[in-house]
Amino acid sequence: MNRQAEQPPLAADWRVAEERASDARPTAASIPDTSISGEPDPSQPTSGRPELRATTSGDATSREPLVNDVAPREAASRLREPGGPPVPGTPGSHRSASGAAAGRGGTGGTAAGPTCVIALDVGGTIIKGGLVGPGGDFLHTERRPTGRDGGPEAVTERIVGFADDLRATAEGLGLTPRAAGVVVPGIVDAGAGVAVWSANLRWRDLPLRALVAERLGLPVAFDHDVRAGGLAEGRIGAARGSGNFLFLPLGTGVAGAFVVDGRPYAGAQGRAGEIGHIVVRPGGAPCGCGAHGCLEAEMSGPAVARRYAEAVPGAHATAAEVVARVGAGDPVATQVWHEAVAVLADGLLIALALLDTDLIVIGGGLSRAGETLIAPLRTIMLERATVQHVPHIEAAALGDDAGCHGAALLAWDAVEVAR
Ligand SMILES: [Zn+2]
Repeated sequence: MNRQAEQPPLAADWRVAEERASDARPTAASIPDTSISGEPDPSQPTSGRPELRATTSGDATSREPLVNDVAPREAASRLREPGGPPVPGTPGSHRSASGAAAGRGGTGGTAAGPTCVIALDVGGTIIKGGLVGPGGDFLHTERRPTGRDGGPEAVTERIVGFADDLRATAEGLGLTPRAAGVVVPGIVDAGAGVAVWSANLRWRDLPLRALVAERLGLPVAFDHDVRAGGLAEGRIGAARGSGNFLFLPLGTGVAGAFVVDGRPYAGAQGRAGEIGHIVVRPGGAPCGCGAHGCLEAEMSGPAVARRYAEAVPGAHATAAEVVARVGAGDPVATQVWHEAVAVLADGLLIALALLDTDLIVIGGGLSRAGETLIAPLRTIMLERATVQHVPHIEAAALGDDAGCHGAALLAWDAVEVAR
């Protein structure tokens, strides 16, 4: 099935949307200085991120358009109007969507003055929040602890309360919030708006989209954090120009997002892309999922640190320190790193055998290793590939903010669908 046929190229429209919206949206210059990052609250670390503007709009015209988008119909299924049923169907095409973008921050639509969406990326330890303009620029960012030790109900209240506070912040900045995007880890039923399960956050069947929508009185888009990050890397990050790629953040945990024909593929149960639990070393290290030798247990931040501690009894080094020692020529660190990279190569070759992508984008903390990771990874994959084509491998462009960017993109999609 060629889903691209259903979707006109978006990136061109996105650029138009950016250009048009940039006329009307708030800019750093149009908002008082204190408003960019908000009043600093010692309990709520806050920072402006001018560098994000560079990543979202820096060279938008330098690559070919692509399709990476959630189709309006799909976005509609993820959208819930507050107090109402899911929005049926979709009225518009991307052409109308791009035209509508001109009105987002202007006089069109229901909102007057500059507009924004509320973006929330819920992680195991930190919730990243942002107010994001129509062009993808962060107008305000804020991080709060997830507070998972308080249990799932407390986490839920933190998420909903954070969203509510961001709405108040937006209004204080003279911005009209149009929608919210919330992305979460674990098993996610985006269509139903339900956080099905998370090992870290310990929730089950949590109707999070409805809870946030009821509190905010705004449309809320809801999805999986890594798939949202893949969406963002596809539209505005390292995978622009690729309709079929794998986005694989490597950090404490390992989960992937396959983008197929321009869309993050969730699978029948919302469980696609769980590459971290491919068994690559049978009988190997125990994994949090209950199996042994999973990719996540053998090649993640903690796994690299554990491998080093096993190789050098009594030594302690984080994954980043191991990478630094590789750069310094430490033979033990180099051996440990080579073994870990080989694990990743084996896992990726399995992934490629299942879905023949034209690009792999490595994200998460370990992607900061750059060529220290990518060069040997590519070499080992080429040595071991049989039927697979080893595609280009790149480090992610959006870093830790990919999920938050994705939440914002989904929220703006929801605004379009609601129009
Ligand atoms: Zn596992």
